[in-house]
Amino acid sequence: MFDVVIVGAGFAGSVLARQLASVAGKKVLLVERRRHIAGNCHDAVDGHGVLVHTYGPHLFHTSNREVFEYLSSFTEWHEYQHRVLAVVDGRKVPLPFNLTSLEMLFPGGMARTLEKKLVERFGFGVKVPIMELIRTDDAELKMLADYIYEKIFVHYTVKQWGVTPEDISPEVMERVPVFISRDDRYFQDTYQAVPRHGYTRLFEKMLDHPGIHLLLNTDYRVIVQPNLERRTMSLFGQPFKGELIFTGMIDEFFDYSLGRLPYRTLDFVFETFEQEFFQEVATVNYPNEYDFTRITEFKHIHARQLPKTTVLREFPRDYRGFDQEGGTPSYPIFQEANTALYERYRNMAEKFPALTLVGRLAEYRYYDMDDIVARALEVFERKFA
Ligand code: FAD
Ligand code: UDP
Repeated sequence: MFDVVIVGAGFAGSVLARQLASVAGKKVLLVERRRHIAGNCHDAVDGHGVLVHTYGPHLFHTSNREVFEYLSSFTEWHEYQHRVLAVVDGRKVPLPFNLTSLEMLFPGGMARTLEKKLVERFGFGVKVPIMELIRTDDAELKMLADYIYEKIFVHYTVKQWGVTPEDISPEVMERVPVFISRDDRYFQDTYQAVPRHGYTRLFEKMLDHPGIHLLLNTDYRVIVQPNLERRTMSLFGQPFKGELIFTGMIDEFFDYSLGRLPYRTLDFVFETFEQEFFQEVATVNYPNEYDFTRITEFKHIHARQLPKTTVLREFPRDYRGFDQEGGTPSYPIFQEANTALYERYRNMAEKFPALTLVGRLAEYRYYDMDDIVARALEVFERKFA
């Protein structure tokens, strides 16, 4: 009855479902464990009329034109440039830390000296990872780097990951570089926007195809049984000769047979205030104060004429399993030992030709939304077109 079973209705699973059904003419069964589509990008209007992001703030940004155009066939956009402030010594300064942040935190003469040195050393408009800046041999720049490391990075990172910046892959800190510029936007990509009617609506359109059958609230293991030794599968108790695309946690797929891959999760606390706005910009980071990392106010992202406003605080912690405390595996933890364990699982997966692993969890990668859409389109072209 079905040619392909896809596990997970996030971007990875949904883009592949759409491509397989509409371009390759396949019959697709899309199985999702949650009660809703859109994976971690899910959003919904809350009880106060505010469009909120269920699993944390999601800002779409890309310089990949193909990805932007592809998604544009499922949504209209609301142009939106994300701005973040970080609370440092009681002041709210632009993040990524830039020349304006420097001027706000250092006395005039010193700020000008540091600025000059930064521009001479690295160039105006350049993004410097903090872990590179901290290795500088110039005493004054080293003082600045230590200050930024202490005030912006180390405590936030310990809250977010449970380890210091030295103990996590450099790619994580590189996401928020020191920016030798006065551009105070969080991203500099060519396309920055949010779906005008939200991400969930975009997914509804993407999955609206007669070739896609969606089964919500269902763990795939109830209906699909892969026999990894024999390299066979059954679907609804019958032999199944089609393809299986899996976008969930790879260690869970293999019943943790090589051990558990660690993930970080977030506890989300939403709060609504009887006032028009709560803070100056969509996201304010608290690197040093409180147990939460940041507060996001959604009305800055999806404009709404309302006398109330809803904000979200994110409290990071270790992920302890889907069934325990309802946590979501939000972030793979990018450390060598974990990557090595992931590779061993991937080798196991390669012995099963009908299985394709795609997605942030299945590939244990720090994929943003545009990365995962690009990846799903590429996998489709390479393997299924
Ligand atoms: P997911 O969205 O996680 O989808 C996987 C799906 O598989 C889930 O719905 C899950 O329930 C389902 N599943 C798993 N196991 C099973 C099973 N056994 N049976 C059935 N279904 C199963 N990206 C950006 O570009 N910009 C941002 O601002 C941004 N902010 C983020 C903020 C947070 C807090 C987080 C966690 C991520 C953020 N991202 C952002 C990244 C973005 O969420 C991911 O790139 C995207 O969701 C990855 O899609 P995916 O399909 O790989 O995974
Ligand atoms: N980070 C930090 N301080 C901040 C913001 C970010 O130390 O104020 C570090 C932290 O380790 C974080 C990483 O930079 O996990 C990437 O930040 P980003 O905002 O990209 O995280 P995401 O939105 O993916 O959670």
